[in-house]
Parts: sequence; C-alpha cells; structure tokens
Amino acid sequence: MLVRRLRSFAVAAALVAVPAAIAPAVASAPVHGRPPAAPVKHATSIGYGGAVSSVDPDATRIGIDVLRRGGNAVDAAVATAAALGVTEPYSSGIGGGGYFVHYDARTRRVETIDGRETAPATMPHDAFIDPATGSPYRFTPELVTSGVSVGTPGTLATWQRALDRWGHGGLADALAPATRLAAHGFVVDPTFRQQTLDNKARFAAFPATAALFLPGGDAPAVGSVFRNPDLARTYALIAARGPRAFYTGRLAAEIADNVQHPRTSPDTTLPVPPGFLSTGDLAGYRTVDRAPTHVGYRGYDVYGMAPSSSGGSTVGEALNILERFDLARVRADSGDAGVLHHYLEASALAFADRGAYVGDPASVDVPLGTLLSDEYAAGRACRLDPAHAATKPVPPGDVTAPPSACASAGGREREDTENVSTTNLTVVDRWGSVVEYTLTIEQTGGSGMVVPGRGFLLNNELTDFSTVYSAGDPNRIEPGERPRSSMSPTILLREGRPFLALGSPGGSTIITTVLQMLVDRIDRGMSIEEAIADPRAAQRNTANVTAEPAFIARWQDALVPYGHTLVPSGDAFTSAAEIGAATAVEIGRHGRLTAVAEPVRRGGGSAEVVWPVRR
Ligand code: GLU
Repeated sequence: MLVRRLRSFAVAAALVAVPAAIAPAVASAPVHGRPPAAPVKHATSIGYGGAVSSVDPDATRIGIDVLRRGGNAVDAAVATAAALGVTEPYSSGIGGGGYFVHYDARTRRVETIDGRETAPATMPHDAFIDPATGSPYRFTPELVTSGVSVGTPGTLATWQRALDRWGHGGLADALAPATRLAAHGFVVDPTFRQQTLDNKARFAAFPATAALFLPGGDAPAVGSVFRNPDLARTYALIAARGPRAFYTGRLAAEIADNVQHPRTSPDTTLPVPPGFLSTGDLAGYRTVDRAPTHVGYRGYDVYGMAPSSSGGSTVGEALNILERFDLARVRADSGDAGVLHHYLEASALAFADRGAYVGDPASVDVPLGTLLSDEYAAGRACRLDPAHAATKPVPPGDVTAPPSACASAGGREREDTENVSTTNLTVVDRWGSVVEYTLTIEQTGGSGMVVPGRGFLLNNELTDFSTVYSAGDPNRIEPGERPRSSMSPTILLREGRPFLALGSPGGSTIITTVLQMLVDRIDRGMSIEEAIADPRAAQRNTANVTAEPAFIARWQDALVPYGHTLVPSGDAFTSAAEIGAATAVEIGRHGRLTAVAEPVRRGGGSAEVVWPVRR
C-alpha cells in the first residue's frame, strides 16, 4: 500500500481556519488582526532550494511557503494555482481548465495532465447558431458572455490528479493557504482594478458577479482589501469533501442550472445565450494523462503539451524548422533581425499546420508524429526564404507527401478568436522536480458568470472551438470533446536534467511567446531574464505581424526590408497592448535557480527562490 508522505507543511496548513464571521468582499478593515499588506515583488530571484514564479506575489509566496515546509513542486504548484484563483480570478480558477506538465526528478520523466474543459455531451454541432434567427451568434457580445460557451471545468480534477500522481500532500493541504487568502483578502493592484473595469458592462449583467466584483457599482479601488468569503467557503467545502463536492451534488447542480438558465439582471441589454452543461457532464468529467510532445533543439530536449493543446506541436514544429538553419551564422551575417525573420517565418509555417491538422485527438486523427518529425520539418523549411517573408497565409504542409518533399496542400487564413487571458506558473523543488502549469477561464473574466454564492467565475472556453465550421476543420464543436488550445507549458532538459521551464498566457500568442523566448535564450544569446523582458512579436500566419510597440520601435526598420508588416498588438477586450505574461525558471549548475517573472507586463509578476543569493 502506498503510504502518503505527509510533511510538516500539511500539519501547518491544517491549522488554517476560515473565519466564522466572514466580512463583506471589499473593506478597509481586516477580518481580524492587521490588514493584509501589498507584498514585495521581485521579477528575478536567484538562489537554491526551490523556486516559484507566477504573475502574483501572494500566490508565489504561498508556493514558496509550501516548498519551505517540505512540500514538493506539485504541492506548491497546486497551492499557487489555488491562490491565483483568489488573486487572479479573471484569468483562472476552479471554473476553468488547463494543462499541467511535470518533470519527476526520481523517474527523470516528463509527463502531463490534460485538464482542458470539455463540451457538454448534448452540445450540438450548430450550438453557435442562434435558434431564433438561424444566423451565427456574434463572437462579441453573444458568445463570450454566455452559457453556451461554458465548458465542463477541469481545473479541480487536474489538481487532484496531479497530487494523486506526484504530490506529497493532499488537496486539503494545498487549498488551505488559498482559503485563508480568500477569507482575509489581498490588496487590490492597478491590474486587478483595470481588468475589472474592462469587464464592467459584462459583470454588471449578472447580479452575482456584480455583487462580488463591482461592490457599490464600481471596481475595487487600488489599495483596498478584496475578500472573497464565498470562495473561501467553496475551497473549505472541497477541502473537507474532496472534488466530488464540486463535480456532484448541490454545487454541481447550481453550476449546471446557471449555465442553462443564466441569471441576468432585469435591466441588462446584453443577450446571454443559455448553454448545455449538465450535472451529468460534471459527474463524468475526467482529466487525461498524456505523453508529452518531444523534439530535440540544438542539444536540448523540449517537452510540451500534446493535443488537445496545439502548444507542443506548434512550438515543436517551429523549432524543428528553425533547426534546419544555422542561426549563429545568420546572426553573424544579418544580425538579430535575420534571426527574428526566421523566427517569424517558422512560426507562420507551423501555424498553418496547426490550423489544418490539430484538434482533440478524441475526434481527430492528429498526425502528431509527422508534424514533429525532422523529415517533415525539412519539407517545411524549404518554404522559408532566408531573405524574404512569404505571402501570408502560407498553406499547410502535405502530411501525406513523401518525407522532405517541398510540398504543401491548399490553405487559407484561419479566423483567430482566441482572447488574451489565462495565467501561468513555474515551480522547481529542492529535489529537482519541475512543474510548468498553464490554466485559464479563457477570456479575462471568462463567461462573466459567477456561480451565485460560490465566489468563482465560469469559463467561456468553448469559444476556442472554430466558431464557423468549414469542411475538414479539425476544431469543430464535438459533444464531449475538448476545444483546441494554444497553451504551451514547456520543459527543456539538457543531458537528461532539467534546464529551463517556461510558459505564458495570451491565447494563440502563447505559442509565439514561448517560441520567441526559446529563440532569444538559445539563439540570440540572451539570459532568461533578458528573454522574458524582450519586446514580443507574433506571426500566426496572418498578413501582418502583431507586435508590441517596443518591438515595432526597435525592429520596424530592420524587418520591413524582409517584407514584414508590423502592426501594434492589443484587442478589443483589454486596455493593454502587451503580448503574454510569462514565467520561467532556469536550472543552472549545482542546482542554482534563476526564477523570472515579467518585469512590466500585466503589472509585473513575482519570482522567488527558497534560499536567495540575489534578487
Ligand atoms: N483559451 C486559450 C487557450 O486555451 C487561452 C486563453 C488565453 O490565454 O487568452 O489557448
């Protein structure tokens, strides 16, 4: 029989109690004791003994505390993720899903858990057609703020599965610090306020959401303390009874009921299409243990997330294409602009294949082996002109052609309706195990629907299915199945030992952010600290390259002669023009850890190590 290796951190965690009298969501007075203070943030920390990087200082601190008390990387990752459900509720939480990648220092293997949301079993192929008009729902406002886009959440099941497979402690231990954080509150920062304001009209449409996130009709003020006693109670319930308290029983019935009958405010003008999620979908939800994707790149073994995410296949294929070129020579001859040109072109080629071939393997025969083979990459690389940008969209490759044939099937530009939300975390423990975990509720603010009295938002992940179906599309709505994701939690090994773990939010720019950071680190000679701060650009097989303003300012003159057109990034949903909000940890000689978070994007992240030598 397996003996669970409970450590001292579990005992400490068990002492955490949810305050009996729970205060309103936003207040200047504490529940008891001193009010929470805004924690100090470090974008880089170097040291030993374990590391955590996330977008949020409270969540990172909670992960570090778990490591200090003897928890391993999985215990710390789940505790950090649960804390992000409190402080980053618009990007992640138990109402969503995600992908968990784990390197086990004992077995030296990388394994993954697919915790993606699933489409309800009764969801028809034409669920995105308005039955009243026979026309497709508009993406905005109907689809994004709807019941019809809510998938069966997978996050809680992912936490349980990860802890069962690799954790030292249990789910109750991992939830305890986040429960306390939800009850006692955190200090509102400008990012939280701005994200709330960006969602104000949507949140106001649902009384339960407005009551939690728009107290008094406004977004919480910067510097105020935000509490979520409902979420504290929900976490406490799950800690006491396990995930079945979420996937079955009263809470499951409430979730399904709200999706099928969205509780809108009487004076909202927002149309909110109802959805299909049932208690049967919740009871039947299962994570999938998947083999990771794997490619070799200039001496590194790069492991990523296999379909249902397109992250591992697209990052991996682009790296394989890039490896056909001597980028050191390109850099010597043409400077960094030459390397960036190759990066953009390889990305476009891989995105063409992503659109043509990648979907949920439960319903689509994804030619993963071909897409990740060196032979196939050779055939794709011959489409990359080192001096000129190809006309976009480039067609996908022909996966049935003989190896190395410079052939392609007909193609077209794919609609990209993915939004920019999500959160990512990286953890390394003292034993050298690593977690890279990306989780989301899809768009910032998800569906906009809080389950009344439960303190968390439901996702709108099913908008990641192709919203308009055309024959052969591998990402068609399929009942019970997973929409294609771009999430790209990635772990690199060098000579069998972990070297680097990284990931990012950002919809389909997740893929380009991870790819660009790898090119920056490996081919452009940057440190990981420089690579995460570097201005970003994304070529997703579209006519223009979307790029951060700083990238345009720096590279426009050098990249226009290649034929690239750079346009500023940003979307209709957010006020920010940034691409991604990455986290990473690099593992150096003798266990030296360099943990990095964003210095600026999304208000700056928080990277800490257990025993720092420099911050
Ligand atoms: N839904 C997206 C995906 O699964 C992530 C959302 C985002 O980062 O904006 O790829």
